[in-house]
Amino acid sequence: MVHESIADCIGKTPVVALSRLFDGGDVSVHAKLELLNPGGSVKDRPAKYIIEQGLRDGSIPPGGHLVESTSGNLGVALAMLCRVYGLRLTCVVDPNISRTNLQIMRCFGAGVDMVQEKDSHGGYLETRIRRVKSLLKTLPDGVWVNQYANARNWHSHYHGEGEELIGELPEAPDYLVAGVSTSGTILGVSRRLRERFPALQVVAVDALGSVLFGRSEGRRRLPGIGASRVPELLVREEVDEVIYVSDLESCQGCLDLLASEGIFAGGSSGSVIAAIRKLIPQVPRASRILTLLPDRGDRYLDLVYSAEWRASLEERYRPPNAEWAGTSRETVIV
Ligand code: PMP
Repeated sequence: MVHESIADCIGKTPVVALSRLFDGGDVSVHAKLELLNPGGSVKDRPAKYIIEQGLRDGSIPPGGHLVESTSGNLGVALAMLCRVYGLRLTCVVDPNISRTNLQIMRCFGAGVDMVQEKDSHGGYLETRIRRVKSLLKTLPDGVWVNQYANARNWHSHYHGEGEELIGELPEAPDYLVAGVSTSGTILGVSRRLRERFPALQVVAVDALGSVLFGRSEGRRRLPGIGASRVPELLVREEVDEVIYVSDLESCQGCLDLLASEGIFAGGSSGSVIAAIRKLIPQVPRASRILTLLPDRGDRYLDLVYSAEWRASLEERYRPPNAEWAGTSRETVIV
C-alpha cells in the first residue's frame, strides 16, 4: 500500500506483550508502541489532528503560521507536518531545551524563538506564553496551537490510539497506565476505551515535582512527563489513581525495558514501567494492564542513557525502595 505522505504513516502502532519484563506472575502487561510513529513520538497524533482539522474548518489558513511553546516532541511533530502541509512554524523554547531537539526542529525548517528571561517562579513557562502572545500580534496569519487547552489534543488520542486499541486488544483491559503532561493522551484514550470497557481503571503516572494532581512543585529533570502548571484540559475526576515516579525510577524503568524487551524508549516509557512495578502487587490476580510507550530512546542518550547523568540524579533523589519491592506509591525528594 502506498501512502499519500508521511502524515498518513502516523498511527496504527503495534501492541506488544511485555512478558519478558513482567514475567513470573499471572498479570499481563500490553504496551502500544507510540514510539514507532514517524516523528518519533505519540505527539505526532495531536500535531496531525490539530493541523488537519484546523485546515478543514479554516481556523488555520492555507500557508498559515503556527506558534507553540514547546521544546519537545510536539515541536518536532509539528515541524515535520508543517513541511507536509506547507505551513510555517515557530517554536518558543527556553535555554533548557536539549541540543538534539533544537537541531531536529531546525532540520525540519522550524523557526526557534528562545526566551532568556525567567518568570516570577524562576522558570520560563510564563515568559514563553507571553512571548507566544506577543508573536501572535505580529503575525496576521498566526495560530496558537495551545496544546494544554486545545480539545483537539485529546480528540486526537480518542480517535487515534483509543479507537485502534478497541480492535487490537484480545480481552478487556482492567487498567490503563499512562504518563501525563498535557493530559491529552490519558483523557483521549480512556474516554474511548471506557465506552467499550466501562470498568477500566485509569492510572496516571506523574513525575515527582509536577503540580498536575495538586502536589507542590519540585525540581524535575526528565522532559516529557509532568507539568509545572495545571492544563485546562485536565479533568482529575476521570483519573482513578496517580502513581508518582522519580527521575531515577524512570531511568531504571528504561534500562529494564531495554534489557528485557529490547525496546529502546524515552524517559516517560521508563516512568510507566516503574509505575506498573508499583501497581502489580496491589491488583487482583490475572489483571490485564495496558500502557503506551510514548517515544524512542535516541533523544535521551545524554540523559537517561548516560551513566554520568543518572549519577547526577542520584545526588538529589533517593528512592526508598531501590529493589521496587515495596508497595509505597510515593518516592520522597531528599
Ligand atoms: N511522554 C512523552 C515523551 C511526551 O512527550 C508526552 C507529551 N509531553 C507525554 C508522555 C505526555 O503526554 P500528554 O501531553 O498527552 O499528557
